[in-house]
Amino acid sequence: MKRLNQILILIMSAIIISCNNTGQKTETTDEQMEQKDDYKYLLEQFADLKIMRYQVPGFDELTLEQKKLVYYLSEAARCGRDIIFDQNYKHNLKIRKTLEEIYKNYAGNKDMEDYKNFVVYLKRVWFSNGIHHHYSTDKFIPEFSHEYFSELIQNTEGAEFPLDDGQTIDELIPELTSIIFDPEIAAKRVSLDSSRDLVKSSACNFYEGVTEQEADEFYNKMKDPNDKSPISYGLNSKLVKKNGVVKEQVYKVDGLYSAALEKIVYWLEKASKVAENKKQQAVIDKLIEYYKNGDLNTFDEYNVLWVTDLASHIDFVNGFTEVYGDPLGMKATWESVVNYKDVEATKRTEIISANAQWFEDNSPTNPRFKKGEVKGVSAKVIIVAHLGGDCYPSTPIGINLPNADWIRKEHGSKSVTMENITYAYNQAALGNGFLEEFCYSDEDIELSKKYGSLAGNLHTDLHECLGHGSGQLLPETSPEALKNYSSALEEARADLFALYYLMDEKMVELGIMPTLDVAKAEYNGYIRNGLMTQLTRIEMGKNIEQAHMRNRQLISKWCYENGMEDNVIEQVVKNGKSYYKINDYNKLRGLFGELLAEVQRIKSEGDYEAGKNLVETYGVIVDPVLHKEVKDRFAKLNIAPYGGFINPEFLITKDGDQITDIKIEYPEDYTEQMLYYSENYSFL
Ligand code: ZN
Repeated sequence: MKRLNQILILIMSAIIISCNNTGQKTETTDEQMEQKDDYKYLLEQFADLKIMRYQVPGFDELTLEQKKLVYYLSEAARCGRDIIFDQNYKHNLKIRKTLEEIYKNYAGNKDMEDYKNFVVYLKRVWFSNGIHHHYSTDKFIPEFSHEYFSELIQNTEGAEFPLDDGQTIDELIPELTSIIFDPEIAAKRVSLDSSRDLVKSSACNFYEGVTEQEADEFYNKMKDPNDKSPISYGLNSKLVKKNGVVKEQVYKVDGLYSAALEKIVYWLEKASKVAENKKQQAVIDKLIEYYKNGDLNTFDEYNVLWVTDLASHIDFVNGFTEVYGDPLGMKATWESVVNYKDVEATKRTEIISANAQWFEDNSPTNPRFKKGEVKGVSAKVIIVAHLGGDCYPSTPIGINLPNADWIRKEHGSKSVTMENITYAYNQAALGNGFLEEFCYSDEDIELSKKYGSLAGNLHTDLHECLGHGSGQLLPETSPEALKNYSSALEEARADLFALYYLMDEKMVELGIMPTLDVAKAEYNGYIRNGLMTQLTRIEMGKNIEQAHMRNRQLISKWCYENGMEDNVIEQVVKNGKSYYKINDYNKLRGLFGELLAEVQRIKSEGDYEAGKNLVETYGVIVDPVLHKEVKDRFAKLNIAPYGGFINPEFLITKDGDQITDIKIEYPEDYTEQMLYYSENYSFL
């Protein structure tokens, strides 16, 4: 039961974004970067990851009460860090703590290659909130031997290893060795291979001792098909079978994760006292109530309050929210984003929202599948002040919540574009050579440089504010009908909606785009990414599994093949390198519209077979020859394909117990921040 409207756009990352913003091939220098902004965005790179930082413009202009609110909510965001580690895999916390103890206390030679590889492994565990890759969800294996691991533990004096009751260090070593080094154990965090038991083949910690069938039966029994406002079954619990009985362990104060949730509640209570207005206070108080009672009805009440609080300047996400981490799409990982409104940039999304009904009415989908009345598409551009849980350090660039279909339909949804994050991405990618390597012509490069950034932001706006909110299910269609294909198809639907409208004169008419060349820049980038450059993130020999990536290839490949007769998109080989070139932008737009109509039909009717067929035919399979070429070309550029951010710090000035001022500071050291969080915000 994948939620249809789960919307966190996982970062398209450097791949699309750097493409939008790279400078000239050789001329782009550090000097040029300085001219634009002398803040250091890119901090370090290791494995396939880069660590960046973002700025929080406008913080100094907030009132003291608003600053306190941001600060308290940020503290709450930090307190959930251990939860996501544990949700991702039940041994993650033990592993992290062990590695950190080694890092802090190891007395041996730290210049050895083995030790450096150990540090890289620890940094990767921090980044992924566990031992599985944050994006592919495959377990990554250290580049040092298990003998060396054992040596590290034995030569670490004064360490406080996380031993179980009565366990000795000699017992800890083999326990962790098999978990970390054996490729067969917990190979994948989230398995979407429907030929196997999805629950049993996934390492995530949402189920214990139950099979996929038992989990399905457990929840199907609860559901009432006539309930028009169903709770999000199973969202905030672990399902466990003990002595033959299947039972939920609920995440709540005095339940599972109580120690961390108590701290979160502590900071939320402080936040409640400095809320900007009564409505916002009610939102925070309702969240506290939900953390205390674990009742999903309270969670829905909270969501209704939250989604209708539109007046507050400061806003936040805090809770068990997205279900990507559960192969059955029911159980949510804990995350938090603290933010406030970028008033100037929000004017753009307000125009889009104000015209939501026009977009719905004019979309190329069958009238039966359209919403008669599009409700409450509230969209804003935000400045992120803090990231936590599943949003840290790898973060989305846009969020659209809540996920429950009936709340979205009756009360609307909030959609945000995280512009200081995309800006930081762009700045960090300056001059990396990506664009020059994969664009077909100088004209493409120019277009990308000129309009790529605006195009990317508008795509996100349309995708989030309109795409996910558009259309409706037929009354008899179950929201879970598309099962394991629902995420990829839902993302495709939102992307297609955005792509189709980007090249509409209406965009220029509304004054949010100076010329349709902006759309050309987006079309070039989208097709290039969907057919080619996103392959840089797939390991050789593997196919595509991640929902957003499946969606992008599905759209690009479908349009490539269905436009072949008219040569809409052409594959060109130049100097032994492959490129994709768009010959007819209007026809491509027509193809986007056609596919949008079909994907909307599939969703509205719940046509599982057609959905499966579309995803499997176009979204999954990778051409190994092109794959290798793209990987080789990318490797030469030395760019990490994934990125994440460290958080700012707050400098508190006090007079006695009273906070008199809060300033923001931007640390530069990833390791320091991770150790600091582990030291001060670890409660499980
Ligand atoms: Zn989306």
